[in-house]
Amino acid sequence: MSKPSPRDLTVIKKGYVTPNMLRVTLGGDGMKDFPNDQESAYVKLMFPIEGDDKGRVLRRTYTVRHDRMTDHGREIDIDFVMHGAGDDGDNDHDHGGPASNWAVNCQPGDVITIGGPGPKKLVDPTADWFLIVGDMTALPAVSVNLETLPDDARGYAVIEVRSEADMQDLKKPDNITIEWVINPRPGERNTVLSDVVKRLPWHEGGRLSVWAACEFTSMRALRSYFREDRGLGKDDLYISSYWKLGMNEDTHKVIKSEDAKKAA
Ligand SMILES: Cc1cc2nc3c(=O)[nH]c(=O)nc-3n(C[C@H](O)[C@H](O)[C@H](O)COP(=O)(O)OP(=O)(O)OC[C@H]3O[C@@H](n4cnc5c(N)ncnc54)[C@H](O)[C@@H]3O)c2cc1C
Repeated sequence: MSKPSPRDLTVIKKGYVTPNMLRVTLGGDGMKDFPNDQESAYVKLMFPIEGDDKGRVLRRTYTVRHDRMTDHGREIDIDFVMHGAGDDGDNDHDHGGPASNWAVNCQPGDVITIGGPGPKKLVDPTADWFLIVGDMTALPAVSVNLETLPDDARGYAVIEVRSEADMQDLKKPDNITIEWVINPRPGERNTVLSDVVKRLPWHEGGRLSVWAACEFTSMRALRSYFREDRGLGKDDLYISSYWKLGMNEDTHKVIKSEDAKKAA
């Protein structure tokens, strides 16, 4: 399939899902030829670089949380982690990067260019048991993973959020247990997620499918546990770094690709 061309979408509405998660709903004419059924796929939000006369843009990667048809046409929701919150004590959520700041400041009617969607990556639904792990940036993808698992699926989801108030009521199969992990300083305290995962009782026998995405250092701790301690191979393990503390997406992308080559 050829790569979809970037399209302009319009902000329909926005609102907080929880204190550190802001949902922006996008729609408009640009959605008319957006491929169907894109929940969990990623898109690239594009931000013009001020003063750049070559028209270059900054790209930021986000997950399609919901994709639905309404009386007014197709809409998608994107959930933005408010990672710049409170850095200067004013709690105005306006000190993140171009994407999180855009989300805070956008208004209905604003237009944003997006690339993608890119391919969806979900747990393998034919496995015997499941382990889904993510921090707040992966919560949209974790939520879709849980919603699409078979009803009789069993296993765990371990989800790191900044505060108790950021826990969400998620639709999931009865035999998937959710372990919420509170970490007000994601990336700084970077073994919080892997410590909980390592303590989970392991189901012996049966094939496991793991899906994990989070901050870079945390991802490496988890990857080493899954591969070296648990002996999981590529077919049973999807693991991805979604961001890195102290690096914007452009620099994170470079070290992520170097790390992937070394770890291959
Ligand atoms: C496939 C994929 C899907 C993703 N889906 C989502 C999603 O649905 N929702 C979502 O919120 N994020 C998602 N992310 C992560 C998101 O792309 C990054 O957090 C991105 O860096 C945010 O862009 P920005 O412009 O706000 O900040 P940047 O300009 O990239 O970074 C500015 C500063 O903020 C820091 N920073 C970036 N993100 C965080 C964070 N979460 N917490 C603390 N500090 C941070 C950086 O280290 C840097 O110092 C996804 C990433 C990938 C690869």
